[in-house]
Amino acid sequence: MNYRIPLSPSHFSGQEQKYIDKAFAENMISSSYGSNITDFESKICEYINVKACTALTSGTAAIHLALILLGIKEGDEVICSTFTFSATVNPILYLKATPIFVDSENVTWNMCPHLLETSILDRMNKGKKPKAIVLVHLYGMPSKMDEIMMISRKYNIPVIEDAAEAIGSTYKGLKLGSLGDIGIFSFNGNKIITTSGGGALVSNNSAYCDKALFLATQARDEAPHYQHSQIGYNYRMTNISAGIGVGQMEMLNLRVKARRKNFYFYKKELATVKEIYFIDEPQGFFSNRWLTTLLTDSFEYREKLRIRLKDNSIESRPLWKPMHLQPVFSDFPNYLNGNSENFFERGLCLPSGSNLTQDNMQEIVDLIKSY
Ligand SMILES: *Cc1c(COP(=O)(O)O)cnc(C)c1O
Repeated sequence: MNYRIPLSPSHFSGQEQKYIDKAFAENMISSSYGSNITDFESKICEYINVKACTALTSGTAAIHLALILLGIKEGDEVICSTFTFSATVNPILYLKATPIFVDSENVTWNMCPHLLETSILDRMNKGKKPKAIVLVHLYGMPSKMDEIMMISRKYNIPVIEDAAEAIGSTYKGLKLGSLGDIGIFSFNGNKIITTSGGGALVSNNSAYCDKALFLATQARDEAPHYQHSQIGYNYRMTNISAGIGVGQMEMLNLRVKARRKNFYFYKKELATVKEIYFIDEPQGFFSNRWLTTLLTDSFEYREKLRIRLKDNSIESRPLWKPMHLQPVFSDFPNYLNGNSENFFERGLCLPSGSNLTQDNMQEIVDLIKSY
C-alpha cells in the first residue's frame, strides 16, 4: 500500500547526484575502489570516531561478515536481542549457528544485562559458552553499554553492535557502533540516511575491516591470476551507492535533529492523552529517534489507533515482533521476562521521516487526540 504519509521515507540532500555524476565521469560505477567509496568510508570513520570502516551492500551482509570475523561456525551459540528485526538474526542461521534470544529491559527496550548474564551462565552450565553477542540499539536508543560491555569482558565474549537503526546516537558522548568489538550500520532506504541499499562494518581493530573487505570482494589471494583459499562473498558497496552516501553524510546531523524534533513534538502534543506513553533517554543516552515509538494501554487501543491512521492514508507500524515469537525462530533457546512481548502488543511507531511537514505532524496528533 502507498501511504500519503509514509513511516520513514528517504530524504535527499540534493548533493547525491553530483557524486553519482563523478562516478560516471571517472568510469568507476561499480568498482570496489572508486573515490566515492573511499570518501564515504573516511567520512564514517571520522563521524563515528573509529579506526576503520568497510562499506558493504547491506547491513545484513555486515552482520554476516562480522560473525565470520569472530569465527562463528556451525553449531556455535550466538546471543542475540529478541526484540529486533529479523535481519539481526538471519546471518547467525546462514552460518548454521544457534541464536540464543535474550529479552529487553524496560528503560531502553534493549537487551537486559541481567538476563544476558543469566543466559551466559546457563549456556555454560549446559556445556557451551556463547561465542558472540549481537546487541541491537533499537529505534536508535542506545543499549546499557557499561553493563553489557562489563559482562562481555567478564566472560570474554565479543559484542557486535547492530547499530543499523542508530547512526548518530551516542552513549556517554561516544557514537554507537564504536563501543563494541565490531559495529554495523544499514543504509537501506528507510533508515536515517541511505545509499539506496547498503551497509558498513566498523571497528577500532582495523584488521577486522581489512578482512571484511577481503571477504566482501570474493576472497582473492595475492596473485596475478585468480587464486582462492577461502570462501568469498560479493558484498562490496558500489561506487554509485557510496556517492549517494557521501551526499547523505553531509546532512546526517540535520537528519538526527529533525527526527528528534519529531519525537519531542509528538511527546508534547500527546502529553494529555492518558492512554499513550513515550520513553525518555536516561542520563548520558542520546537517541537519534530514528522512529518515534509509543506504548499504549492495550492491544485494542493500539490497533484502533493504527487503523484510524491507516484509514487516513497515514502509515504507522506495531513495534517489532520479537524473534522468539517468529515461527522460523521459535525453536531456539530464549531467556525472557515478558518485556518484548508486552512492547509488541501495545506499541506503535509513528511517521518519523526527517522530511515530515509541520502540517503532517499536526494532522497526525489531531487525529490521535480527537479519538
Ligand atoms: C535495517 C536493519 C538491519 C538490516 O539492514 P539492511 O541494510 O536492510 O540489510 C539489521 N538490523 C536492524 C535492527 C535493522 O533495522
